[in-house]
Amino acid sequence: MKVAIASGKGGTGKTTLSINLTEFLSETQKVVLVDLDVEEPNAGLFFTGKSVREEIKYKMIPQWSKDNCILCGQCQEVCNYNAVIRFMETIMVFPQLCHSCYACSELCPTQSLPMTQQRIGKLKHLKKENIDFIESRLDIGEEQAVPLISQTLEYIEQQFKKDTLILMDSPPGTSCPVIEVAKNADLIILITEPTPFGMHDLKLAVETMQELDKKIGVVINKHGTGNNEVEKYCEINNIPIFAKIPNNRKIAELYSKGKLIYKEIPEVKAELEKIKFMLQQEK
Ligand code: SF4
Ligand code: SF4
Repeated sequence: MKVAIASGKGGTGKTTLSINLTEFLSETQKVVLVDLDVEEPNAGLFFTGKSVREEIKYKMIPQWSKDNCILCGQCQEVCNYNAVIRFMETIMVFPQLCHSCYACSELCPTQSLPMTQQRIGKLKHLKKENIDFIESRLDIGEEQAVPLISQTLEYIEQQFKKDTLILMDSPPGTSCPVIEVAKNADLIILITEPTPFGMHDLKLAVETMQELDKKIGVVINKHGTGNNEVEKYCEINNIPIFAKIPNNRKIAELYSKGKLIYKEIPEVKAELEKIKFMLQQEK
């Protein structure tokens, strides 16, 4: 079972929930936590374990070879991303825009655009007792998160059996990276805050997940602050609220020290127990 932990915006407690839920569940079962927020992975700051594997990840981009090129311009015409253009007597490739679709390379009549590997980031796999932790990190300057996310998901498919519980700490927002994660998930936990901003971003996230036809559950963080609009919205739209994490200054203090929150705040542990129950129902 793959569960994506996502949010309409950053800073809502997504990583805090991912880490605490992973550690809590691991007390009774094996869990895999994957940090797919590849532009800014930070779950690893809270996790130490034995290194199992490290892999450099690549994407394929075309490289122009001018010897046989007849400057027909077909490559430019076929690219939907403006990643290859003809400029006078030269074909220029923009790797940051390339989506590795192979179209220009395969349609070039003179095989002048062979696909070549370009490094995009690194995957790390650590293990500690019942937890496997996988983190992928995009190289500085790389703009496309999706290829690294999809390669990390392939790694997960290869490494773990189908019945393994996999928690995926997703990128924030509702753009391509989070969609890449969500479309591979069986269930999405959306974490939000009970504020007008939280409400606004939750609605966007819910609409995105509904487009993908995904099951959703909501976790309200900092419950007790703001208003009850999120609860009303969930009730009207028949979206289950899995848990309500209380607003507690001690949570921020523990987080800043890299400590597990549920071990010191019983109310948080009780809420994680509710999420565990909901996950069991979804199996
Ligand atoms: S399609 Fe091939 S031959 Fe035509 S311009 Fe592009 S690289 Fe040159
Ligand atoms: S591989 Fe696809 S995206 Fe990349 S330059 Fe060629 S046509 Fe464009």
